[in-house]
Amino acid sequence: MSWQSKLLTDSRYHELLSLPIAGKLCFDPESIGNASVDFGLIIREIPVAVLYTSYPEDIATLVAFAYNESSIPLTISARGFGHSVRGQAMARDGVVVNMTSLGNKSTVSWSQSLGHYADVGGHQLWIDVLEETLKHGVAPVSWTDYLYLTVGGTLSNAGISGETFRYGPQISNVYEMDVITGTGHFLTCSPHKNPDLFYSVLGGLGQFAIIIRARIALGPAPKRAKWVRMLYSNFSAFTMDQEQLISRHGRKQHEALDYVEGQLFMRQNLDSWISFFPLSDHPRLMSLVTEHELLYCIEVAKFYDERTQSTVDKDLEMILKDLSHVPEFMFEKDVGYVDFLNRVRAEELALREQGLWNVPHPWLYLFVPKSRIADFNTGVFKNIVLRNNITTGLVPVYPMNNDKWDDRMSAVIPDEDVFYTVGFLHSSGFEDWQEFDLQNKEVLLFCEDNGIKVKQYLPHYSTEREWMQHFGPKWRTFQESKAQFDPKILLSPGQRIFNHNK
Ligand code: FAD
Repeated sequence: MSWQSKLLTDSRYHELLSLPIAGKLCFDPESIGNASVDFGLIIREIPVAVLYTSYPEDIATLVAFAYNESSIPLTISARGFGHSVRGQAMARDGVVVNMTSLGNKSTVSWSQSLGHYADVGGHQLWIDVLEETLKHGVAPVSWTDYLYLTVGGTLSNAGISGETFRYGPQISNVYEMDVITGTGHFLTCSPHKNPDLFYSVLGGLGQFAIIIRARIALGPAPKRAKWVRMLYSNFSAFTMDQEQLISRHGRKQHEALDYVEGQLFMRQNLDSWISFFPLSDHPRLMSLVTEHELLYCIEVAKFYDERTQSTVDKDLEMILKDLSHVPEFMFEKDVGYVDFLNRVRAEELALREQGLWNVPHPWLYLFVPKSRIADFNTGVFKNIVLRNNITTGLVPVYPMNNDKWDDRMSAVIPDEDVFYTVGFLHSSGFEDWQEFDLQNKEVLLFCEDNGIKVKQYLPHYSTEREWMQHFGPKWRTFQESKAQFDPKILLSPGQRIFNHNK
């Protein structure tokens, strides 16, 4: 550290100690160390302090101090569970707010206009929201695949999963929020109250405000799930069937699925998918993947309860009857609803046991327009991925309906009726993550060279030009909202949008 930056750090430290919340700021190596890393384990940024508090007012005090009084610029980052992969929740030389120390719980209510809804803390994990809402026989309608993510963290991105085709991303299921803006103001926002703030914050990458409370949509909680996987060797049959399945979203409940996803299966990433299938089927799966090199899997679920138990099999059969998967390669499980939603947890625990969870994660998540998904298959899956032969981890591939997203929100998606999410959820060693990043760059370059207008989900860029390109026509509004709600560029510096050159 140069003497100038040491002096700045010392001055920030002394200023922070003069605050009424000084007793809740931690400067010890353990707190600082935890806030300097994330799930990605690629970026490391050291903050001056970490705020642990159970009172949102303390967060407002901190932000107001940084905005009004601090003599040296002081950035602030809300940290949910730190499940970002590129330092998005970090604050170099700033203060990280450990959101999970806020203590309020979810409350479930009902109104004539909204039906059941829940008021949940921005810091809460979705698994805890699920547990609480289930006590009332209801549950959120839109999910992420993994539930150990925070409400504020996923609402800052979008929150996507196999339910998105039908209910939209999690950001489409929010009625109202309480937030603390970059000027330290505590405000309630909704489509009717402070609407500009409301739409900016949803998908806003933490740039405008810290989410303290969100009022979210709930629906009746089912009891169980019929969970089906079907294998394809033909990409166009795979995408045609997926698109047919998600087009049923407006049908009556018994005619529609509740969840549609998909994955790319290869020998390279065998460890990430084979365990779903019964051991006795492994030999024939191995020979199918050896024969075709690339297999595509559609994964669907239909939820049911006591009322629909007697008809669910017939309904599912009707929905899946005309699909063109490889005959004899359809696999079904019947599991509890919570086990279905919490399915990634079991994988996490298994990876933790093998020491394979806390490793670098050079992920790349893309939204690909439907009109170019076949080109993406040829250029990326068949060429780059098979040739490099390094891809580990899951590769989700599934479509979503554009009309379930609200264009007024900050989240960015391709400009087509249907688009695909494709994730390269790599796990790597500490020495070789750059190799995966090189592949990620190759994929992006291929798309650019071939005019495939992909959008990154959980975006990570290093220049203003790239951010402008990412937001496209929304860039101006995004900038104007920043100037209005966080004019001193204090919040979520780890996204490196307005401070990319620092
Ligand atoms: P953090 O990483 O702590 O924060 C993310 C960003 O949000 C930061 O910029 C932070 O400053 C900001 N932020 C955090 N809390 C708040 C708040 N209260 N108010 C304002 N800003 C805030 N995403 C999906 O959409 N679908 C998935 O299925 C999915 N699966 C995943 C599985 C795993 C194993 C992992 C590691 C991630 C997955 N993600 C998925 C990505 C996840 O949505 C992001 O990592 C997201 O950032 C949530 O993580 P977090 O709550 O830990 O937030």
